[in-house]
Amino acid sequence: MGVAARIVLYAPNDYIAKWACSRAFLRIAQLEETMSDYRSDSELMWLCREGHLAPVRVSNDLFFVLRKALELSQRSNGAFDITVGPFVSLWRRARKTKQMPTENELNEAKKLVGWQKVQLDDSNQTVKLAVAGMKLDLGGIAKGYAADCALKVIKKFGISRALIELGGDIVLGDPPPDRKGWRIGILDEKGKPKKVLELANCAVSTSGSTEQFIEIDGRRYAHIIDPKTGLGLTKLVLVTVIAKDGITADSLATALCVLGEKEGRKLAETYGSIAFFQEKSLD
Ligand code: AMP
Ligand code: MG
Repeated sequence: MGVAARIVLYAPNDYIAKWACSRAFLRIAQLEETMSDYRSDSELMWLCREGHLAPVRVSNDLFFVLRKALELSQRSNGAFDITVGPFVSLWRRARKTKQMPTENELNEAKKLVGWQKVQLDDSNQTVKLAVAGMKLDLGGIAKGYAADCALKVIKKFGISRALIELGGDIVLGDPPPDRKGWRIGILDEKGKPKKVLELANCAVSTSGSTEQFIEIDGRRYAHIIDPKTGLGLTKLVLVTVIAKDGITADSLATALCVLGEKEGRKLAETYGSIAFFQEKSLD
């Protein structure tokens, strides 16, 4: 998933701690094999190749993540959209060549984008893609889900006091002994601590345009794509979301970057989540 994974936990002894961690890391690796868009042999890439021919039956993990992603697409009015893969590919090429995609390329990509083009059948757990050449990208949601799954594994060992961190996505179990919560710092866009929160049994995700971006003709385009334009966000935005679990926090944080503060806060509320915004327009 392109990030370091970190687990902090309190266990009765070293042996159980190591055993629980190694199992949790294995689970994360397994999810990467399922959902990576970098590995051509992942279940996700196989779905992208075959999914337009006939409905494809997928694993429980992949189906669950796709279901959640599409629900958020609908609730965010398309701001969160896992079908942006073709736009992401153009962005990645622009990062290498320092050249913007042409109008024609953007229009061609647009034909493959749109969350309504992914059709799920709950009773058969199958997925159908409306057109050939679609590319699904779970980069905005899979890390949070993987952290949720890692915590579940750890709990099976009888350990409840744990923290899982995958890049900007953190999932928290019970707090450390004699503490009310895990101390989580919220940083400003320069990386300086803005607030410290004590949290437990929830998830915290941060997304933004401040860390990964390309600069072309003096303009910055972030790795988060506005599905309406097909281009990376040009505003400076950093959003932190506190939600009940990792999959919600991760996907909401990405969606809220696109939506902006006013709409974003409303959406976060409908998920019972709290959002912190730091936003500046560069236009
Ligand atoms: P995050 O770091 O969690 O905010 O996720 C960013 C990643 O999500 C990007 O690198 C893309 O892989 C993917 N992505 C970009 N734009 C969108 C979008 N509008 N909706 C869903 N996923 C996106
Ligand atoms: Mg995210």
